[in-house]
Amino acid sequence: MRSCVLCLEPITISTPKEHQHETYVSLGVDSLCFFCMQSLPWLQQSCLRCGLPMPISQPACGTCLSLNLYRDHTLAAFEYRYPISEMISAYKFNHRLEFLPVFSQSLYHQIQQYIHRIGKPEVLIPVPLHVTRLQERGYNQSLLLVKLLSKALDIPFLNDFCSKVHETEPQLKTPATQRYNNVQSVFELSLPASKAQYKHIAIVDDVVTTGATVEALSKVCSNAGVQTISVWCIARAC
Ligand SMILES: [Zn+2]
Ligand SMILES: [Zn+2]
Repeated sequence: MRSCVLCLEPITISTPKEHQHETYVSLGVDSLCFFCMQSLPWLQQSCLRCGLPMPISQPACGTCLSLNLYRDHTLAAFEYRYPISEMISAYKFNHRLEFLPVFSQSLYHQIQQYIHRIGKPEVLIPVPLHVTRLQERGYNQSLLLVKLLSKALDIPFLNDFCSKVHETEPQLKTPATQRYNNVQSVFELSLPASKAQYKHIAIVDDVVTTGATVEALSKVCSNAGVQTISVWCIARAC
């Protein structure tokens, strides 16, 4: 019998009748029990440009209108709050790969809701890890997510589009003011520019906090000639 990856109880209890109308019942997240699924901080309404939670969904928030962002869209499945914050940390730093299907299935559901508005990207790219960090961790958490999304959405992925050429401190341990500066010029196009000619790509990351990392990567893509840049992430921090 399957167990819930969060509370470890067997998944035996079916959705109570009074909850059957709720949208997350049909999300297809098959490794959580109903009660844990209900406890997750699903991102309901957000700014479609930067992904920040908003009282109502809108194409761009006030902050986006005053900034010239390289990315065109940001979609997240969750707000970066407990227990998703703990699950993502465990996934990244403690090899808790059993949480991966929860992330990919939830994000897939969110993408399905919006793909008619943002359009289907031609290719998915994971946020690259610096080679030192990759050796330390043994896996790129964004690449594992990309592989599942690529299969579910039938969109190819490229792991060698960009590389991370300088190491930075883990973002969540760095004061917010330093994060933006830290990620300037840390990414480089790895493909010859002639092979990077895409109209629309989606960058996949685990958590978007200030957005500095995905902006730095979006800048590289934009400079390579990519016209539309979407960012898809498990969770968006406020
Ligand atoms: Zn559970
Ligand atoms: Zn915004």
